[in-house]
Amino acid sequence: MSGVKVEQLPVPCLYLGEGPHWQEDLEALLYVDVFNKAVCRYFVNTGRHQVLHIDDGGKAKSVTLVVPVEGMKEWYVVSVGNTLCAVHWKVSDPDDHTVVPKVLQVTTDSHFNDGKCDPQGRLWAGTMGPQDEKGELLKMNVSSLYRMHSDLTLKKCVEKVSVSNGLTWSPDKKHFYYIDSEAFSVDAFAYDDLTGQIKNRRVLLDYKKSNLGDDIPDGMTCDVSGNLWVANFKGSKVICVAPETGQIIDQVNLPSKNVTSVCWGGPDYSTLYVTSGKMRLIPEEVKEIPAAGGTFAVTGLGTKGQAANAFRPDLNLFRTKVGL
Ligand code: ZN
Repeated sequence: MSGVKVEQLPVPCLYLGEGPHWQEDLEALLYVDVFNKAVCRYFVNTGRHQVLHIDDGGKAKSVTLVVPVEGMKEWYVVSVGNTLCAVHWKVSDPDDHTVVPKVLQVTTDSHFNDGKCDPQGRLWAGTMGPQDEKGELLKMNVSSLYRMHSDLTLKKCVEKVSVSNGLTWSPDKKHFYYIDSEAFSVDAFAYDDLTGQIKNRRVLLDYKKSNLGDDIPDGMTCDVSGNLWVANFKGSKVICVAPETGQIIDQVNLPSKNVTSVCWGGPDYSTLYVTSGKMRLIPEEVKEIPAAGGTFAVTGLGTKGQAANAFRPDLNLFRTKVGL
């Protein structure tokens, strides 16, 4: 496609960038620096970059998602290892700041991975299996996708997951799209916005039957037409998939190998923000791919997205839980 521009953002090169979320009121890109156990906030208009380190006493190894809390200014939900936590992060905090998180929910799973809120403000967050120290030897089919409701209860929605990723909803709120990276597919469910129930899982795009080589599906988002934009770990690209046919209808190449996730942002939601990671690259590749681990802004795609949903809790419950 002509007119597409890929720009690397001047933010620190991370080991593993993930979970991008455009925070409209601040005109800022939120994302996580997974193994640095930090949340980042990049104000695109001023270039200011804030890093919030999560201090859980060294228990967890990763921070994998961040979403703002609706009605609670400067509060966020973050995942810390196998817990979902709340943190208070002020714009007036120093650019390098550390906070002790308040635990909202704990699972018995290994640790959380990607998560997002549905149109009703429920937080859907999935887990992934334990790995060895090298990040290999993943334990398969022992993780789940959970949904945290406004009353802060956690409900299991999908079982037997290996690496929970993806997740987005169609603009008409009738479909939920999901990725278990180890299943190498983009899946669709029928979604009931009123109750949050999902059913009728089906494979929309099977990576192993689609000429995608060693690409691994990771994070994804939806545009206003309902098309899916999927980050391809190992694949140096984001692909666009038509949900009606499962066909790949567009592709954006990135100067980074392990592309991890995507979100729409910018004043009119026409910029696709893309995170990536340096993990699992051999030293030669790190030399050859200077933009590895970079965060990118892609413009000129000829489409746009919608505002991402924040977590919408019962505010009295939330305040009590975090000790306010
Ligand atoms: Zn991911």
